[in-house]
Amino acid sequence: MKLLKNYKMVLKKYHATVKKRKEIKEDTWQVDFILDDDQKEFAYDAGQYAMIKCDKEIKDGRNNVRAFSIYSSPEEAKQDKKISIVFRLPSNSSEYKKHMVGCPIGEKITITGPMGKFVPDNKKELVMIAGGTGIVPFMSIIKDVLKKSSKRKITLIYTDKFEKRMIGLNTLKKLSKTNKNFTFVPRFKRVDRQYLEEHIENKKSQFLICGTTPMVKNVISILQEIGIKKENMLFEEFPGY
Ligand SMILES: Cc1cc2nc3c(=O)[nH]c(=O)nc-3n(C[C@H](O)[C@H](O)[C@H](O)COP(=O)(O)OP(=O)(O)OC[C@H]3O[C@@H](n4cnc5c(N)ncnc54)[C@H](O)[C@@H]3O)c2cc1C
Repeated sequence: MKLLKNYKMVLKKYHATVKKRKEIKEDTWQVDFILDDDQKEFAYDAGQYAMIKCDKEIKDGRNNVRAFSIYSSPEEAKQDKKISIVFRLPSNSSEYKKHMVGCPIGEKITITGPMGKFVPDNKKELVMIAGGTGIVPFMSIIKDVLKKSSKRKITLIYTDKFEKRMIGLNTLKKLSKTNKNFTFVPRFKRVDRQYLEEHIENKKSQFLICGTTPMVKNVISILQEIGIKKENMLFEEFPGY
């Protein structure tokens, strides 16, 4: 049974520390947290998110907590008690993000979760459409689905402005080479109707969409125009860019 069904019961606070940080792409950071020794396993379904609270008073009026999709797959988290997040660090970045990339390693944080229903169906073919950091939950989902079944068909259409901003690009290329059922379609422009029609093989797939609110709205309306039912779609919006 999926954990998601019990999510209200499993929503908990976990204490962890900042373990590692790296600028993985242009203006894009990965931060890894390790659960404290006395904490129970942080179990989640791939695609879910958590609230990450830092241990600092933030004075920009925007508080010290943000929602982040979980970048690591549930298996990676289980093995190492590690939870990773990825975010952009714009030049006018919030105090919260400056703290996350600048605080000492070992800094305390609190994780609340897991949360969210952006969790794919167990059996259907999947078509995923990501814009920018909207790729984050898909990295967890793709690794998880491929681990459980290499036979399931997955298509990922991932758009960003430039290749140097594409999160997880090498991993995605590698996975698509080693899994013939995983098709990776990078795109350096917005998707439009013609483009989506060209790359969608099975309209009965489940469609997962993640990105900024305008991107998600636009993709949903294109999918509806080409005859995909909203009940076959799951979407997650990242506000705040
Ligand atoms: C379910 C969910 C999952 C998410 N997952 C991710 C994820 O994996 N990766 C990720 O990067 N983000 C994710 N987000 C968005 C994330 O929570 C932040 O809102 C986003 O990264 C913006 O960060 P920031 O607010 O620190 O501003 P910054 O990115 O630092 O933006 C810079 C500046 O933009 C302005 N600004 C940005 N947002 C707002 C706002 N909401 N209100 C007012 N001013 C604003 C401020 O001037 C701010 O200083 C997710 C959100 C949700 C709801």
